[in-house]
Amino acid sequence: MIQKYTLHTHTIGFDGQDSVQDMVNRARELGFDTIGISNHFIVNPVIKQAKMYFYAGIGGYRSIYSASFDEVLSRFVPHYEELQIIQEQNPDMKILRGMEVDFFNNAKWRNGFEKAIKILKPDYLIGSAHFVEYDGTLLNVHDLKNSDEQMQNLLLEKYWTNLKNAAESGMFTWMAHLDLPKKVGLGRGEKWADFESRAVEAGAKSKTAIEINTSFYRPDCYEPYPSNRILKMVHENNVPVLISDDAHVAKNIGRHFDEAQKLIKDLKLKSFTR
Ligand SMILES: [Zn+2]
Ligand SMILES: [Zn+2]
Repeated sequence: MIQKYTLHTHTIGFDGQDSVQDMVNRARELGFDTIGISNHFIVNPVIKQAKMYFYAGIGGYRSIYSASFDEVLSRFVPHYEELQIIQEQNPDMKILRGMEVDFFNNAKWRNGFEKAIKILKPDYLIGSAHFVEYDGTLLNVHDLKNSDEQMQNLLLEKYWTNLKNAAESGMFTWMAHLDLPKKVGLGRGEKWADFESRAVEAGAKSKTAIEINTSFYRPDCYEPYPSNRILKMVHENNVPVLISDDAHVAKNIGRHFDEAQKLIKDLKLKSFTR
């Protein structure tokens, strides 16, 4: 049995390329009963000074980065209203309101986040880290590639610590793409196993699930996020998993779900229940 729903997706208006209705149509074609839309919720006062913000401008997706909670609310309030309308127009499908949240470990962020959540009332929250805070700036995981080895190690340690804190917080339904730095070829060595296991154990303690993200199956490294090394820890800690396509276009919905389902079976992982 292959998972018949998808909860990690992105749409137009944020950094996705297809409309909510296009995504719903594709999910229906695949025989899914539920789709969750989980656009980026990234709020940090210095986000617009981050290098990635400049590139987002070129790519046309600046709208995923907000410098304040008021700014993110001005995007999410109308977005969730649209989801409500599309739900009414598509009664055969369950359309859930999610978000992929970048976690920042400070009281001010937490406070603002909790207030925003009370207003938005999302159905679920995905915890993630696409940025590392360093010396008053934000570095995207992509930027780690361009620093020297000593700096890379420092930033990777910060990445894993932040992820562990996010998992520990118990604020999230599940954690996204745990070993994201492998996107740029980093963090694969054995020395990172301890950091990974601390993040997985934190998730186990706070009852936070972990996704198997199928957006990384590539010819040169044919595996999802997270790696098998982490999935073994997930098994040992009995943390439930769900499959995420992380689709930014409708045609990617459900990609590699068969392979991920096989991993769940082979590694005897516990499935997430909604
Ligand atoms: Zn992500
Ligand atoms: Zn995503």
